[in-house]
Amino acid sequence: MHADEYALLDVTTSGSMIRRLDTGNETALPTGMYPSMARTGLAQDERFAQHQTGADHAERPQRLECIAAALDERGLSDSCAAVAVGAVDMTLVEAVHTEDYVARLRKACSEGESFIDVPDSAICPASFEVARLAVGAAVQAVDDVMARRIDNAFCAVRPPGHHAERDASMGFCLFNNVAIAARRLLNHHGLDRVVVLDWDVHHCNGTQHIFEDDPRVLVISLHGHPGVVYPGTGFAEERGSGDGEGYTLNIPMLPPSGDAAYRRAFDEQVLPAIDTFAPEFVLLSAGFDAHRLDPLAPLELETESFAWMTDAMTAAAAQHCEGRLVSLLEGGYHVDALADSVCVHVARLLEA
Ligand SMILES: [Zn+2]
Repeated sequence: MHADEYALLDVTTSGSMIRRLDTGNETALPTGMYPSMARTGLAQDERFAQHQTGADHAERPQRLECIAAALDERGLSDSCAAVAVGAVDMTLVEAVHTEDYVARLRKACSEGESFIDVPDSAICPASFEVARLAVGAAVQAVDDVMARRIDNAFCAVRPPGHHAERDASMGFCLFNNVAIAARRLLNHHGLDRVVVLDWDVHHCNGTQHIFEDDPRVLVISLHGHPGVVYPGTGFAEERGSGDGEGYTLNIPMLPPSGDAAYRRAFDEQVLPAIDTFAPEFVLLSAGFDAHRLDPLAPLELETESFAWMTDAMTAAAAQHCEGRLVSLLEGGYHVDALADSVCVHVARLLEA
């Protein structure tokens, strides 16, 4: 059955049969498919493990293995609709990144280089194609939401994307997944107002720079204060430029900020800014490294913090854009805390 047929199906009262609304014919509910109930999409793919970064690297395949195991164990993956993961068309990547950078990355991977641009950004021969899959998942998720096949989605992808600049890799990131998804919404779907909320503990320098002069994309980032936390950008004074002035909102959090400080930031800054902007689509750069157990940063969020933060964003999406929301994994390096936090996040997306 093709995904486009979802709209033609309804679940009968018993829940075990589906009925085509056009013909009235009933058939048994296919295993793993919940046509009327699965309103949250989930992108996962074992090929993401082929991006090998080395035994000591924080951004390693085990991150997604732990997430997949936890989602399975808690029955969450079965409750979601699968988002198809395929290699993105390179014209979409080049709508954000320079041809020169794309060519450099392709060459560095094919020649077996161990990193690109900075030692943090480890690569292997498969990394170029795996990075295309991560972008492909993000683009498919926004296309699926725009087509109303699903209401919202979480993409468990790697490599992450938010540090990647137009013309360079940075901080484990090769292609800027969320920026390419936002560009897809502007260029292909014709939207005029997209909000990107980035709650990864590290400032989204790449996403900010790509959209800093574009008033169609409001980039909001909560992150560890740039005076003490990588990458050292994201001061409150950085507010965009040209036509985009006022469409960049940086909220630096001084360590050891935790749940209460994030609640204040949402109430006083994040949610009012989103209400004023009235987005047509909500994108989340969902890093989970502001968790108190994370080894890469000194902030103090709890696993449950990601529940109310998710609720706040699904409520904003419901208020402004019929619930349209896609969340992309960025960081999160304590694998157990990461897996628990992702489960809380996906459970709340399912409840939205
Ligand atoms: Zn991070």
